[in-house]
Amino acid sequence: MKKHNYSAGPCILPQEVFEKSAQAILNFNNSDLSILEISHRSKDFVVVMEEARALALELLGLEGKGYQALFLAGGASLEFLMVPYNLMKVDGKAAYLDTGTWANNAIKEAKSFGETLVVGTSKEQNYNHIPKGFSLPENASYFHCTSNNTIFGTQMKSFPETNVPIVCDMSSDIFSRTLDFSKFDLIYAGAQKNMGPAGTTLVVVKEDILGKSGRTIPSMLDYEKHIKAESMYNTPPVFPIYASLLTLQWLKNLGGIAAIEKINNAKAELIYSEIDRNPLFKGTATVEDRSTMNATFLLNDECHAPIFDKMWKEAGISGIPGHRSVGGYRASMYNALPLESVQVLVDVMKKLEKVVTL
Ligand SMILES: *Cc1c(COP(=O)(O)O)cnc(C)c1O
Repeated sequence: MKKHNYSAGPCILPQEVFEKSAQAILNFNNSDLSILEISHRSKDFVVVMEEARALALELLGLEGKGYQALFLAGGASLEFLMVPYNLMKVDGKAAYLDTGTWANNAIKEAKSFGETLVVGTSKEQNYNHIPKGFSLPENASYFHCTSNNTIFGTQMKSFPETNVPIVCDMSSDIFSRTLDFSKFDLIYAGAQKNMGPAGTTLVVVKEDILGKSGRTIPSMLDYEKHIKAESMYNTPPVFPIYASLLTLQWLKNLGGIAAIEKINNAKAELIYSEIDRNPLFKGTATVEDRSTMNATFLLNDECHAPIFDKMWKEAGISGIPGHRSVGGYRASMYNALPLESVQVLVDVMKKLEKVVTL
């Protein structure tokens, strides 16, 4: 039987995406060729790329608003470098919000391009909340934030009102909740958290912020070159882009982001109410900043770990041990994880309480 897959990434995708992907590997579009062996310049694949780029903008409500969607390689981690390369003005500065491991990696890269101001950090509290009340310097080239902190289980519920361009790493919550995406100037997301398999990164960028940094940018790192080449400057990751398109189509058929948001909220409500109710567990993130995607929690008494671990494994659950920097457990509830899987975990938590209080 299929596992209840709580993996933090690469992660669960819709079953129909697995089936259609498998079919395309054997025979893509009845061409008697595998998607793995066709040219990225073939008509069949050019259509895939065009549809994927258009559908990403459509789902985000950004069609016709001056944005371009790109499917690049190199992971979200390459964007940590591409963002300052393209956006930080020579002799300029950028503002960063330090909300965890990934934000930190982004800050490290920016530092080699210019003044990198950390306007807020929750590092001292092991990133258990989102810093608030920070201010942004008017003359920053951009403000960078991480909408969902995959490792620490926190999520930004609001974003600053500012004239400074906003860049957001949405790797682990893109397409999971409704936001006014037009407030962002550049959004990026590694596919493998909520959109597809590992191997491609979605970049959504407002065209008019590009070309202003005054830097000479190597071709492969230049957003303008990728836009001009319609996201095919070089051979793109064909298969991950195809599987991402299938996931976006699945999401559209379901009713889009607004529809999945309701389900995601129901899943989060179910797990967090059990974490708060069950005397054996406690959440690690501040309640108001809790992520709807990654719920991080601990056993109050570690001595129950062996029996709890045995119980969730027996229930067919996979992928809930926490990241080493937080410990405990992390239930990643990306778009494709059904509510029923969360119910299975909650039932195990309830059962554990019965067993240990006997
Ligand atoms: C996983 C993750 C990354 C790193 O993604 P790669 O594609 O492995 O480079 C960056 N940011 C966030 C928020 C993530 O969850």
